[in-house]
Amino acid sequence: MSDIIKLLPEHVANQIAAGEVIQRPSSIVKELLDNSIDAGATHIKLIVKDAGKALVQVIDNGKGMSETDARMCWERHATSKITSIADVFKIKTMGFRGEALASIASVAKVELKTKRDEDAVGTFIVIEGSNTITQEATACPTGTSITVKNLFFNIPARRNFLKSNPVELRHIIDEFTRAALANPSIGFELFHNDDLLHNLKPADFAFRICDLFDDKKPENLLLFEEQTTIINASGFIGKPQIAKKTRGEQFIFVNNRFIKDAYLNHAIVSGFENIIAKDQYPFYCINIEIDPSKIDVNI
Ligand code: ADP
Ligand code: MG
Repeated sequence: MSDIIKLLPEHVANQIAAGEVIQRPSSIVKELLDNSIDAGATHIKLIVKDAGKALVQVIDNGKGMSETDARMCWERHATSKITSIADVFKIKTMGFRGEALASIASVAKVELKTKRDEDAVGTFIVIEGSNTITQEATACPTGTSITVKNLFFNIPARRNFLKSNPVELRHIIDEFTRAALANPSIGFELFHNDDLLHNLKPADFAFRICDLFDDKKPENLLLFEEQTTIINASGFIGKPQIAKKTRGEQFIFVNNRFIKDAYLNHAIVSGFENIIAKDQYPFYCINIEIDPSKIDVNI
């Protein structure tokens, strides 16, 4: 019998990798917002159409990319954030795997416009299913705009698997909320089908919470701060009267990265024992700062 093992073509490998990173429109939102935050943006605009199925666009005023980087960023394992495994243990950025843009480009039609402050002109690139269709110089402001259209246009099975627009939009708003809570000093806007859903000015943590959630008022929030030799934890806990019968407003961040942790959640909720009814969930929003070398960002 002849040999049967083949190396997968690059675009197939990217599509398979994309299966892990990009499950739905909100996965794209998360990856693009992370990149804008890592690029030092002070203002980030998120535009979605049809709950992200038709369009996800993120426009930032971050540091932008050079012409070469604008081409390179779509390659798998292309990252400016680490160069060795040691870097992974002191990582302060949201991303570092260099997989997000390669994955997105393999399952959607993407456009990039980007310019650094020091460059007179920016770069415009169009990619479809991992193939570069256009690359040219363009006039654009400093920063980066990435447009992702027709998610899964080339993988009908995955497109059909997407949920209804209200469900997909809910996932997008959840990602937006997490990014906005973790970065109150960054201004954020969110548009859906031309409706402005959020316009968040740079603010302190308490103001950002009240700005994001219509039903939260400063007088309903309790400041919480705790310092130990290993961690600093701080944030806000909702007073019992704003506890809800549904889950979903419990936020824990570790070094500004949103996490879900049943153990920490249980510890916080048990602090409310006998104060709120058993079927209610308290609001909380807590950031834990810890030396990156003491945690594994992969976990
Ligand atoms: P990672 O974030 O893990 O490095 P990505 O695929 O998300 O991988 O991005 C690849 C690279 O492209 C980043 O390391 C960064 O250098 C560059 N990049 C992506 N988005 C932006 C952006 N909005 N502004 C500036 N540079 C960006
Ligand atoms: Mg990234």
